[in-house]
Amino acid sequence: MTTYIVLLGPPGAGKGTQAEVISDSLKLAHISSGDIFRENLKNETELGKLAQGYMNRGELVPDDVTIAMIRERLTRPDCANGAVLDGFPRTPAQATALEGMLKELDGTVRSVPYINVPSEVLVARLSGRWTCQQGHVYHVVFNPPQVTGKCDVDGLELYQREDDQPATVERRIRVYLEQTSPLIEYYRERGLLREVDGTQAIDQVTADLLAAIQKG
Ligand code: ADP
Ligand code: ADP
Repeated sequence: MTTYIVLLGPPGAGKGTQAEVISDSLKLAHISSGDIFRENLKNETELGKLAQGYMNRGELVPDDVTIAMIRERLTRPDCANGAVLDGFPRTPAQATALEGMLKELDGTVRSVPYINVPSEVLVARLSGRWTCQQGHVYHVVFNPPQVTGKCDVDGLELYQREDDQPATVERRIRVYLEQTSPLIEYYRERGLLREVDGTQAIDQVTADLLAAIQKG
């Protein structure tokens, strides 16, 4: 049986950080919609060119484009056992589309951990975030790499994301509250939501997430 986990939470909640560990531990693929968009931006693909303006403004890329991208990603061989979805769905239309896609793949969303972090904490997290091209995430104070400026996992150079500057962060949090937070109720109504306190230390959040997923 394939297992799909949807990680919900605002920008900066720790979805990318946690998805990396949880997907490893559960032997599932890690699908980050933001990472796929950034990869396309870097390679200057048509998809990347289309997404760029929205991403720079801190707005969502249109649903049809995003849904098509994830549909393709979910059919790749590394998703045979399922996947941890990080950053998708982000709108009710995307959530409905996901249900349809998983039906076709004979799967279903098993659990939706919601990493709850208040807005005032998010700004400090995002302004100190450093990332490598492979999507490994650090924080200058809360989770520094062993060697300054280099990824612990692959040695790649770390960079700060263009959209992590304060004005864009504010816009992204607003967009989250308007367009993505309705998914909390959507999944609560379906009995899938599991709330986790995302202000705890990274390891404790991981432990709580795994416990929540295991409970089903
Ligand atoms: P998201 O994918 O939800 O946007 P990230 O995983 O990229 O979030 O984390 C955002 C920033 O916060 C990163 O710099 C990361 O190192 C840091 N971070 C993640 N989890 C925690 C935590 N529990 N406590 C403190 N900082 C954290
Ligand atoms: P964070 O978790 O820090 O908010 P992401 O890396 O998930 O950031 O996303 C970065 C940007 O990529 C978003 O601000 C948005 O422009 C675009 N994006 C990512 N996922 C989606 C999605 N599911 N729907 C629409 N746009 C998305």
